[in-house]
Amino acid sequence: MVIDSLEFARRHGRLPGRLELGQLPRLADGLFDAKGNLDFAVSGEMKVKAGGEEYSLALSIDGMLRLICQRCLGALEYPVRIRSRLILVQPGAPWPDETLEDDIGEAIEAGRELDLMPLLEEEILLSLPIAPRHATCAAPGNPAATGETSPFAKLAQLKRN
Ligand SMILES: [Zn+2]
Repeated sequence: MVIDSLEFARRHGRLPGRLELGQLPRLADGLFDAKGNLDFAVSGEMKVKAGGEEYSLALSIDGMLRLICQRCLGALEYPVRIRSRLILVQPGAPWPDETLEDDIGEAIEAGRELDLMPLLEEEILLSLPIAPRHATCAAPGNPAATGETSPFAKLAQLKRN
C-alpha cells in the first residue's frame, strides 16, 4: 500500500482493493464489530495547467460498516460512500491556498513512499457521524421501548392533575 505518489499520478496508476477492518486500528475503535466491508480505489491523475502540472490522487471508498448506536449501544449498519481528491504538493513547491482546498481537494505532501492506508483511514474517520444513532430505537432499559408509559409521561400526567 506504499506508492511513489508523483510517479503513480504521472502514469495514471490505479490501485483497487479491499480494506481489512482489523488493519485500521483507529477506525476499529468506533465499530460494533469487524463484520463490515470496505472496497477502495486510488487513481493517480495529472492535469496540465497554466502554472505547470497538477498531480492528484482520487480516492473512492464504498461499503458498509457496523457502528455503535449511541442510544441503544446496538449495531448500526452504516453505508460508506466517499469520493475525495488529494492534491500532491511537491517538496519546495508552494502550498495551495487553504480557501481553495474545499474546491480542488486537500493538499498533502507528495511523498516518494506514500502509505495509502493511513490516508484512507483518515478519510473514513472524517466521513463518520460523531454520534451515530438508529432512526428509531430506545436506550436499554427504557420502558418506552416496550410500549409502557415513560416516567416522564407519568410525571406530565401528575402535573396536569
Ligand atoms: Zn439504537
